[in-house]
Amino acid sequence: MDDFEWSGEQVVLCKDDALGLRAVIAVDSTVLGGGLGGVRFKHYPSYGAGIREAQRLAAAMTLKNAAAGLGYGGAKAVIFATEPGDRRAFMRAFGEFTARLGGSYLPGVDMGTTMDDLRWMAEGGAPVISGEENPSPSTAVGVHHAIRAAVAHRFGADTLDGRTVLVQGVGHVGASLARLAAADGARLLLSDLDGERAAALARELGGRVVPPEEVTATPCDVYAPCAAARVVHPGSIATLRCDIIAGAANDTLAHPSCADLLHARGITYVPDFVANAGGVIQMDAVHRGLSQGELDDALAAIGTRVARLLAESDAEGITPLAAAERAARARLAGAA
Ligand code: NAD
Repeated sequence: MDDFEWSGEQVVLCKDDALGLRAVIAVDSTVLGGGLGGVRFKHYPSYGAGIREAQRLAAAMTLKNAAAGLGYGGAKAVIFATEPGDRRAFMRAFGEFTARLGGSYLPGVDMGTTMDDLRWMAEGGAPVISGEENPSPSTAVGVHHAIRAAVAHRFGADTLDGRTVLVQGVGHVGASLARLAAADGARLLLSDLDGERAAALARELGGRVVPPEEVTATPCDVYAPCAAARVVHPGSIATLRCDIIAGAANDTLAHPSCADLLHARGITYVPDFVANAGGVIQMDAVHRGLSQGELDDALAAIGTRVARLLAESDAEGITPLAAAERAARARLAGAA
């Protein structure tokens, strides 16, 4: 997204030479509450690249939390990956930096960080709201609801029975999603850079392994990106042979204009920030002490939301992405 222009509230650069810690916290919006978003631990080619990624992902978190009806703003942090001598001290120091923001940044797990890391950030004073549970299974449940709603919209079917679902990336979310889809009657196509991981899951659930380079050109009803960002770009769109795209990966589109290209090709794209909100919904449920039944209902509401967006998209001739962004921005404008 080279032409992305950030209009967020605050960027904080963090540095602790003794520990070799370099990090950036981007708070995009606190209009609806403290900015909730994960901490990414990753290598970047430059500091600028990491700052930019934090800003872009923070903006997506604002939309995600607003679209999900949650009382949080959007934020994201990036820790520039090194080999910390003492990971606990390292994460505790990062937690101290987040504590200084007085609640405008609420950290969670993201690529490269674990629940242990989050616990150590909390030891440093970070305002961690999410409890001890990994959010990935709830994210998968939310994506499953989103896929079901898109399948109902597209094919008029109540289940995934007989539908071919291609899961790209069978890590924490993708493997859970594959299990849910299989139990719902789907025929599975599974792909992962770790071929043995995909093969083991295919042996467990039934299904066929697709080599990573063949994913976008493989015929399927539903393509569920659950791995890397920006897998849908003009080049891959030209080769796609699916009816629906709905998955967990953040930043699925290389550029918002890809939503128009998908619309023109007749491919139903469920915006990533709507489909993959199950994790933040679970964090909120833990924070507010909701029951399992209340959490289940909140996750099922993702499906209701997707059905409404797709109906609006049809009725008004706009993309589902435009409908979703409009709803999220209306909520933000109302709160502001
Ligand atoms: P993960 O690291 O557990 O799994 C990702 C899997 O994708 C790994 O098995 C990896 O080998 C594989 N992979 C990476 N690149 C690939 C490629 N090009 N082709 C095929 N496989 C590839 O990550 P996760 O927690 O399951 O998250 C998956 C995606 O969902 C990420 O984009 C993440 O940001 C997003 N997401 C996750 C959550 C959550 O609750 N974990 C919430 C919202 C969004």
